[in-house]
Amino acid sequence: MAITDSPFENADKEQTILERIGAEVRRFHCTNESKVIEAARNAHVIMCDTSPVTRKVIETLPELVGVVEYGIGYDNIDVNAATENGVLVCNVPDFMTSEVADHTVALILALTRKLNRMSRSTRRGEWNWREFRPISALDGKTIGIIGFGRIGRQVAERMRSFGTQVIAYDPYVTRETMEKLGARPCELDGLLENSDIVSIHTPLTQQTRQLIGKRELAKLKCTAVLVNTSRGSVIDQEALVEALSNGRIGAAGLDVLAREPPTGTEPILKLENVIVTPHAGWYSEESSSRLQENAALEAERLLTGKMPNHPVNKDALLRRKLPQRTA
Ligand code: NAD
Repeated sequence: MAITDSPFENADKEQTILERIGAEVRRFHCTNESKVIEAARNAHVIMCDTSPVTRKVIETLPELVGVVEYGIGYDNIDVNAATENGVLVCNVPDFMTSEVADHTVALILALTRKLNRMSRSTRRGEWNWREFRPISALDGKTIGIIGFGRIGRQVAERMRSFGTQVIAYDPYVTRETMEKLGARPCELDGLLENSDIVSIHTPLTQQTRQLIGKRELAKLKCTAVLVNTSRGSVIDQEALVEALSNGRIGAAGLDVLAREPPTGTEPILKLENVIVTPHAGWYSEESSSRLQENAALEAERLLTGKMPNHPVNKDALLRRKLPQRTA
C-alpha cells in the first residue's frame, strides 16, 4: 500500500489499521506523475491527497486495484482510466461537511462585516467604524448557492438562520428537493444577477472548470461577495482579480486557489477586499481524525477484496481486479 501524499503528519493510523491484515504501508510526498509511479510500483492500493493519479500511472501499475482519496474532491485522479482498467476509486465524503460549511459562513461573515480590514486598522492605532461604511445587514439579503450537495445544503441552512433568502443552481438536483430544503431553484445567470452573496460548492469537473469567468462575474451585483471553498479552478482567477480590482464586485473569500500552494506573487494575494485561507475548510481535530481512519478502513476493504463504502466509479466493479497478495 503506497500513500503517495497525505495531509497528515504521520501514517500511524493507517499503519495500525492495515497491519491487522499484514499489509505493508509505504509513505511518500509525490508531486508529479513519475514520482507516483516510482512510489506505487508493486502496490495494490494508492492513498492520495493531491498527487496526480493519471492514466499513465494507472496503466503503468498492473497490480493496482484501488485508489483512496483523502477527502471529497478527486479531480487529481483520472477516474475514466481507472474504470477502464478495473481500478476502484474511493473518496471519503461526509466526514468534513460541517467544517467546510462553518468555514464558508465564517468567510461570509468576515467579509460582509469587514472584520479583516477593521482589525488591521485598529491594530494600526485607528478607532473609527465610519471608515468601513457602508455595511449592509445580512437579514433580508439573498445568497446564491452553486452546487446544492452536502456542503451547499449545510451552508444554506446556516445562512437561513441569519435571515437570508436562499437561491440555488444545481442541474443534478430536482426542484422539489431544493424547495423542500428551503432554496428557490434558479438558472446560473439568474442566480448571479440576484444574489448579494454567491457561494460555490461544486466538484471540479470538465463542466465546472472556469464555470465563473469574465462573463459570469459581469452579471454579479457590484457589491456582491463571492466565496469559494470548492476548488480554485472553478473560477477564472485572472478574471476575478480584474473584477475585484476595478470594483466590478465587492469582495471575495477563497479557501482554494487555481495553484496550491501559491507561489506568493499572485495578484489575488495582494488585494484588500479578499480573504484567502490555505485550503483549511476541511480541517478540525475531529474531522482530521475521522478522515484518516476512514480512508485507511476503505483501503483495508480494497486490499481484502471487500466492497468499499464509497466507490465513485461503480462501473469499474464489472471488471474489478482483486489483489493477488497484500502489499
Ligand atoms: P457533493 O457531491 O455532495 O455536492 C456537489 C454538488 O455539486 C452536487 O449536488 C452536484 O450535483 C453539484 N454539481 C455538479 N456539477 C455541477 C455543475 N456543473 N453546476 C452546478 N452544480 C453542480 O459534494 P460536497 O461534499 O458538497 O463537496 C463539494 C466540493 O467541495 C467537493 O467536490 C470538493 O471539491 C470541495 N471540498 C473542499 C474542501 C475544503 O477543504 N475547502 C473540503 C471538502 C470538499
